[in-house]
Amino acid sequence: MAVDATSTALGDHEIRVVDGVRTDLLIGGSWGPAEGEATFDVVDPSTGRVLTRVADASPQDGRHALDAAVAAQPSFAATAPRERYDVLMRAYALMLERIDDLALLMTLEMGKPLAEARGEITYAAEFFRHFASESLRIDGGYQTAPAGNARFLVAKQPVGPCLLITPWNFPMAMGTRKIGPAIAAGCTSVIKPAHQTPLSMLALGGILQEAGLPDGVVNIVTCLRAGEVMEPLVRSGLARKLSFTGSTKVGKVLLEQCADKVLRTSMELGGNAPFIVFEDADLDEAVAGAMAAKMRNMGEACTAANRIFVHESVIDAFGTRLAQAMGDLRVGRGTEDGVQVGPLIDEAGRQKVADLVADATGRGAQVLTGGEAPDGEGWFYPPTVLTGVPRDARMAEEEIFGPVAPLTPFASEEEVVAAANDTPYGLVSYVFTNDLRRALRVAEALESGMVGLNQGVVSNPAAPFGGIKESGLGREGGSVGIEEFLEIKYIGIAT
Ligand code: NAP
Repeated sequence: MAVDATSTALGDHEIRVVDGVRTDLLIGGSWGPAEGEATFDVVDPSTGRVLTRVADASPQDGRHALDAAVAAQPSFAATAPRERYDVLMRAYALMLERIDDLALLMTLEMGKPLAEARGEITYAAEFFRHFASESLRIDGGYQTAPAGNARFLVAKQPVGPCLLITPWNFPMAMGTRKIGPAIAAGCTSVIKPAHQTPLSMLALGGILQEAGLPDGVVNIVTCLRAGEVMEPLVRSGLARKLSFTGSTKVGKVLLEQCADKVLRTSMELGGNAPFIVFEDADLDEAVAGAMAAKMRNMGEACTAANRIFVHESVIDAFGTRLAQAMGDLRVGRGTEDGVQVGPLIDEAGRQKVADLVADATGRGAQVLTGGEAPDGEGWFYPPTVLTGVPRDARMAEEEIFGPVAPLTPFASEEEVVAAANDTPYGLVSYVFTNDLRRALRVAEALESGMVGLNQGVVSNPAAPFGGIKESGLGREGGSVGIEEFLEIKYIGIAT
């Protein structure tokens, strides 16, 4: 789909990068239009203007994609681990070779500053390198039965064709975090990226083809009607697994659908991370940690610090320093030099942030910096610090998904742990303290799948990422990430 320079306000290089992406569906190794040549718009959140249009798959297109995955499954399952390793390593190298264009593409469709987009491409590629190695380590077992009259052979096999659904906030990394282990395990898949950010995934499809991935192993379906296209695939009985990253609300709908054919599921859902600063913390470190935990991706991260609890004796000093650091950030189009904060994903996302801020200030919170959406094009919202946010404010219960840091005072360890756990979510928590005993005691008491101790970022392809409670099921990354795509088969042998 050629880009219209006048309507998009893109520069020449930006147009070349967007034009370089195939905008069709990738099914069975071929790129082709959706049924009826239907398309939908991809919008630049920094201008609100259309960047390009991509294929809008119908339920029938979705079924063709799943049929292609099913057809490719037996031969792909039989490939040598080394072949899968080689494909993943070639794709890893290609992603890094093209990092500039891939990062620019991501910034244009999603809004994050170029430096963050480059960081995401590196992080995303790393999942391929990590899972390439894991493909060579799929293990099994051989054991003598306790009675001595049989042997147990335990083997691992690919789960089978998978459905992969990803969100818009990390358009590349959330994809490679699923595609990497699926390929490593020998699974084929149909992947559906979020409608706001299909271009990164389509670019990745081209890279996987160049890397020598056999036809039909990864099929890409872009569409506007996610439910209509995906539900029949979930219920078809042809897919064996669903791996989803997105909101808890949609995750619950999908879990119910998966029950129909008892699909294996991995669910990476929403978060409501507490960020706790004890009175003995190093405040410089805590402010730097809060900046990382809050401002990565403009706050549009499941791991974002959503409730910042600060001991009452240091909350004023912490608030002043955080407000200074947040107020100094440069907001603008992510492609511009020096910009640290891009736009939010769309008008609905920005309005939600504004509503949550209005609710908190209506309940007595004070604004230390930010708090007013600017006029003009694009969905920008300024870095904002609120203090004295009451625990019953809406933003203490819902994901803010924006650059707003709400500070709430606490008096005791017991009280703050209870407050931190008072949420149905349990993805990640952050704790800042210089007392080792307290650090371990609190880390163990917090109800979350991950804890950052004196650090504001926990994501690492080599670590098991995931949540408990309504934040999800299963883990991605680490040595366990591949297990999500493997079934255990026990073969009993008479002797
Ligand atoms: P979302 O609305 O749940 O959408 C996620 C994906 O699901 C998109 O591809 C979406 O397609 C698709 N989808 C929506 N309704 C569907 C349905 N009925 N059936 C099948 N697919 C459906 O979430 P989002 O707004 O894109 O992403 C933000 C959320 O993701 C936040 O809650 C965040 O915490 C969570 N997240 C979690 C993690 C984690 O690892 N735990 C990581 C990143 C993000 P459309 O785009 O077409 O709607």
